[in-house]
Amino acid sequence: MIYMDSAASTPVDPRVLDEVVPHMSGSFGNPSSAHRMGRAASRAIGEARREVAALINASPSEIVFTSGGTESDNMALRSARGRVVTSQAEHEAVLAACRRLESEGAEVEYLPVDGAGLVDLEALARAAPGASLVSIMLANNEVGTVQPMAEISRICRAAGAQLHTDAVQAVGRMPVDVEDLGVDMLSLSGHKMNAPKGCGALYVRGGARVLPLLEGGGQEGGLRSGTENVPAIAGLGAACRLRRAELEGRAARCAELGQRMRSRILAEIPHSRLNGDPARRVPGSMHFSFPGVEGEDLVVKLDEYGVAASTGSACSVNRQSESHVLVAMGLDREMVAGSLRLTPGAETTDAEADEAVEAVKRAVAELRRVSPLREKYGLSGA
Ligand code: PLP
Repeated sequence: MIYMDSAASTPVDPRVLDEVVPHMSGSFGNPSSAHRMGRAASRAIGEARREVAALINASPSEIVFTSGGTESDNMALRSARGRVVTSQAEHEAVLAACRRLESEGAEVEYLPVDGAGLVDLEALARAAPGASLVSIMLANNEVGTVQPMAEISRICRAAGAQLHTDAVQAVGRMPVDVEDLGVDMLSLSGHKMNAPKGCGALYVRGGARVLPLLEGGGQEGGLRSGTENVPAIAGLGAACRLRRAELEGRAARCAELGQRMRSRILAEIPHSRLNGDPARRVPGSMHFSFPGVEGEDLVVKLDEYGVAASTGSACSVNRQSESHVLVAMGLDREMVAGSLRLTPGAETTDAEADEAVEAVKRAVAELRRVSPLREKYGLSGA
C-alpha cells in the first residue's frame, strides 16, 4: 500500500517503539508510587515533558499530558468562561465542544474564512473584544492552510482574550514556537508524528486560565487526573525529540514531494483544482477537487489501486456528506463532492509519489467516464 494519509495518522517510529515497550512490562510502575519503580516511571514522564516543551519552545511546567488532540481541544474550550470566538473551519473536536458550550448557554461566534481557508481578521478584530477565549486552528486538517497566528494573537491580546490553537496538524510537521505564535494554549497529538495513538498534550502558558475535565487523583498538576499513560507519554517524548532533530529535513522532503505531485496532478488531470492557500500550507499536504467524481468513490478506487488516501478529515466516525471546511471556503457542490486529500510522509519515495499520481489519474478518468457531469465539464473521458 502506498500511504498518502499522514494527516490522518502515522506509524509508530521503531525508535519510538523502543522507548514505549519497556514501560509496558519491565518498568511498569505507577508514577505516583514512592518506590523506585514508581520513581522511574515518574522520571520518564518528566523527560517526555521536557522533550514536548522543547519542540514547541515552552517550559516543561506548561505541558499537560492528555489522551490526544480531542481531549486537549475540549479542555481548552471547557475552560472558557463567557463568550467564545472560533472559526467555521475548525476540527470537529473544537466545533462539538463549542456546540456543548452553546447548549449550556454560552455565546459562540463562528468566524468566516475566505476561499483559501484563511480566517477573516477584520471579523476577528470585531468579535474578539469581550470574548473570554478565541480558538483558531494553526493548520487545517482538510486543506492544510496555515493561519497567520502571530497576527491573530496581536488582535486577541489587544482585546484581552485568551487564545487557543489546535496545532494537531502542525506540530512535528512544521516549526511551531509558542512564543512566536503568541498563543496561551495549544493542542498537539502524538499519532500525527510517529508516536502512539491516544496520547497528546495541551500547552498552557503560565498564568493562563484552564480547568480540568476530569476530577480524581490530581495528576498533571491537578489538570488531568488519572494514572498517566506512561508508555505512550514516553513515546510522545521520544517522537518530539526525533522531530526536533529531524524537522527541517522532513519538512523539506515533504514540501518537495508535495510540489512534485501537485504540479503533475494539476497539469495532467483536466479541471482539477488545488484547495487551500497555495503557499501558506503544511509542507506536503495537498487537497484537490475533481469535479465529476465523488470523493468517496475516488478513495475506494484508490484503495483498489493500492493507495491510501482520504477525502478530508478521517477523524470523524459519522462521516458528514459534505465537508464543512470546503463549504465555509465557498466551494460549489461539485467541488466539495469531488475532493481528495493526499498527505505523503517524509519516508515516501519518489517512485511511490509518481505511482500515486498515476493511480489518481486513472481513478479520476474511470469515474468521470460514468459521471452524470461529463457533459457539463466537457469531460471526454479525462
Ligand atoms: N484536531 C485536528 C486538527 C486533527 O486533525 C485531529 C485529528 O485527529 C484532532 C484534532 C483530534 O486529535 P486526536 O485524534 O489525537 O484526538
